[in-house]
Order: sequence, then C-alpha cells, then structure tokens
Amino acid sequence: MKTEYISGLPVDNLTEETLRQDLPVYITSGRKMMVTSVNPQISLQVERYPQVKAYIERATHRLPDGVGIVKMSKYLGGTIRKRVTGIDVMDMMLRYADEQGHRIFLYGAKKEIVKKAAKNIAKDYPNLVVAGYLHGFTTREPEKIVDKINAANPTFLFVALGSPKQELFLEAQVDNLNASVFLDVGGTFDVLSG
Ligand code: UDP
Repeated sequence: MKTEYISGLPVDNLTEETLRQDLPVYITSGRKMMVTSVNPQISLQVERYPQVKAYIERATHRLPDGVGIVKMSKYLGGTIRKRVTGIDVMDMMLRYADEQGHRIFLYGAKKEIVKKAAKNIAKDYPNLVVAGYLHGFTTREPEKIVDKINAANPTFLFVALGSPKQELFLEAQVDNLNASVFLDVGGTFDVLSG
C-alpha cells in the first residue's frame, strides 16, 4: 500500500479488496485497524483542529474518499485512480462481520436514526451481532461513552459524528477503546436508517 501526500495529508492507494484482506490480519493480531477518510472537506478542518491531522497520521488506512482526491493525485503525479468511500467500506465491513459472526457497535447520529440503522443492519446481516449503539448527541462524559462501548465488546466500531467530531473523538479515545476495527463514517447511519 503506497502512501501519497495531498495538501499535506497522507492518503493511501488502496482498494476495498486490500482493506478486506487486511481485516483478519488486524483482528487476529490484536493491532488496531483505524480506517479514516481523506477528502477536501477534511483538509479544511485540519488547520483549525490539529488533532484531526494527528488522527489521520496515526490511522492505518486513509481512504481516498472522493473524486477531488483522485484528481489531486493525478495532478501531483501520484497513482491513485479510484475513490474508495466510507459508505462502501462500511458495507464491505458489515458483509465481513456477517460472514464471521463478529460484534459491531454504532456510535453517532440522532437517537431514532441510529436505532433504526441498528435495526436495519440486524435484519440485513442476521449472522453479525449488533452489540450496542449510542446516539451522537449524548451529554455523557467521553469516559462513560468509552465504558459503554467497551462493555459491549465489539470487534467493529463505526463512528458517525460528522467531521471533525468523529476524528476528535477517535484521536482522544482510540487507545482506551477495546475494539479491533475503527471506521468513521460521517452521515452513513442516516443512509442506513432509510
Ligand atoms: N452528528 C452527531 N453528533 C453531533 C453532530 C452530528 O451524531 O454532534 C451526526 C449527524 O446526526 C449525522 C452525522 O453526524 O448523522 C454526519 O453529520 P454531517 O452530515 O454534518 O457530517 P458529514 O457527513 O458532512 O461529515
């Protein structure tokens, strides 16, 4: 997997297939797999929130999430030719979790949205376990949120708080969370709740 730098941010030349192959490698080794998205919108947040850049830099997989990134790569002489979106990666991860019977946790979006998304996922992927979910407007302390997620013991944690909230949460808490695979997915729960 080759890393390129676009507007000062690392982006990985990867595909859904290489990500899928990496899942069991990380899950069995106990090393955390942190998958995040790089797009022009994020590059605007980075100046104001250095922790967002810190999270992108420590992430193990940085998705070229959007045609803007593909165009920039081409322009800069890079090799990224296809975008890989957070929502497609979440679909792939749900299929994998279903095949393997893994536990997942959903954190983010409005209360009724995340509940409906959890219900739809449980129906569409009957072999995975929705170990828990939590809406993204809770006033709980971050430590309490971490405790709730860890108590559910998920392998996959999907965080949909929008940017920069999701990157800030993960940068601050990823070391305290016991999940194996982390994906921040913006407005994806809204889509999955439909
Ligand atoms: N969201 C949340 N908590 C917040 C702010 C936003 O859970 O404090 C959720 C919001 O309900 C939506 C998701 O984050 O489901 C993505 O929001 P938005 O579309 O603004 O972010 P983007 O996809 O543009 O990053």
